[in-house]
Amino acid sequence: MNLTERLDLRGGRNCWREAPSEDKPEELPQSCDVVVIGAGVMGALVAQRLAADGLDVTLLDRRAPSTGATAASTALVMWDADVPLTHLARAIGAEEAARRWRRVFSAVETLDERIASLGLNCSWKSRPELYLAGDVLDAEALEHEVAARAAAGLPSALMKGAALGERFDIAPRDGLLSTGSFEVDPVALTLGMIKAARGAGAKLCFPHEVERLGLESDGVRVHCANGADIVAKHVVLATGYEAARLFLPEAFSLSSSYAIASKPGEAPAWRENALIWEASDPYLYARATSDGRIIVGGEDEEFVDAKKRDALIPEKHAALAAKAAVMLQRDDMQFDCAWAATFGGSPDGLPAIGRAQTMDRVLLAYGYGGNGVTFASLGSEMVRALIRGDDDPAQTYFDPYRTFGHQDEL
Ligand SMILES: Cc1cc2nc3c(=O)[nH]c(=O)nc-3n(C[C@H](O)[C@H](O)[C@H](O)COP(=O)(O)OP(=O)(O)OC[C@H]3O[C@@H](n4cnc5c(N)ncnc54)[C@H](O)[C@@H]3O)c2cc1C
Repeated sequence: MNLTERLDLRGGRNCWREAPSEDKPEELPQSCDVVVIGAGVMGALVAQRLAADGLDVTLLDRRAPSTGATAASTALVMWDADVPLTHLARAIGAEEAARRWRRVFSAVETLDERIASLGLNCSWKSRPELYLAGDVLDAEALEHEVAARAAAGLPSALMKGAALGERFDIAPRDGLLSTGSFEVDPVALTLGMIKAARGAGAKLCFPHEVERLGLESDGVRVHCANGADIVAKHVVLATGYEAARLFLPEAFSLSSSYAIASKPGEAPAWRENALIWEASDPYLYARATSDGRIIVGGEDEEFVDAKKRDALIPEKHAALAAKAAVMLQRDDMQFDCAWAATFGGSPDGLPAIGRAQTMDRVLLAYGYGGNGVTFASLGSEMVRALIRGDDDPAQTYFDPYRTFGHQDEL
């Protein structure tokens, strides 16, 4: 069995600039400290973090960098996960749930600091975040959610519909207003991190499709489909939704998601360019970009089949535009980009980061859930701690082989 399946990760036309030609690949070296497989946002952040520590890093991909799922991301960078804190608390206990969410919150803070210290030009901007009442959390449940967040020390406040509608100029609905969230251009972030990693000595090698891993006395041999190989002391699997199923449990599952974007110059269409999402299933979310596009996403489907997924793009485009018109109280928005992509989730909305059960020197870095960009920051910090042998309590929180407590409560 090959290490990962190859998927058609996305279809349609998205709104981000594709990878530029200046990312020239290098020769695959014979050995290094760490091979990172996957040059999406996860692999890029991991590679930069490790290279900055002075490790000899090789970043491998079967595609050009940042042309996998990352190029389909709508990139709202938030700390509140798909599964509400109150639901997670019912499943695993309030204290444990709070610890996990606080760790995710700190990953956004760390990313903010990293982007600033590296001076990355990736349209990184702090935005207020609105989480609107829906059929997952109604107005009453939002009161419990805000109390749980306050008890965990997380910055959310309840807003009544009239005040929220007036301040943000959208349809009135009760919601949580949170701080500490950001928007970003995911492709620019990934390419910027790879550039910084290369500046610190990391090598970028593509196209190299990794077929299998073999244990050696002093490390892991990474075998590519083109016959090339490399030995590393550690291997990080950051292969996104093309998961290494030999290691990643099936609880981390795939689906399909959809998004549309307007031409530049349409935003601001509501005040403060807040990041907006709904506590609903199916959910709807919206954000603006720095060049004034409006992005709307949601309409997920449980299947993965790429042909079936892409055939639904026109229908999903119309459904998202109609729902956005109601939520945003605007019927004049024109959307000229529409895309579909494979998407990954987990029962508790949290990622799979940790050691592979059967190969000690292999680390998994899978940011499944709607906060994949945040989870890439988290993954890079945790992989660093694992390789350095540091104690990090988060190793149990996001362990790929964790149990999910009373799953029916999630
Ligand atoms: C429509 C959509 C909207 C989203 N919205 C948000 C959002 O608002 N906020 C947020 O935080 N997250 C969001 N996400 C999630 C986030 O975008 C993803 O979690 C993230 O981009 C995944 O990055 P990655 O690096 O893990 O995967 P990828 O970008 O797919 O990178 C993995 C790389 O691994 C390579 N690879 C795989 N197998 C091999 C192999 N055997 N050999 C060599 N290379 C291999 C692939 O070629 C690929 O380039 C969204 C995702 C989608 C699809």
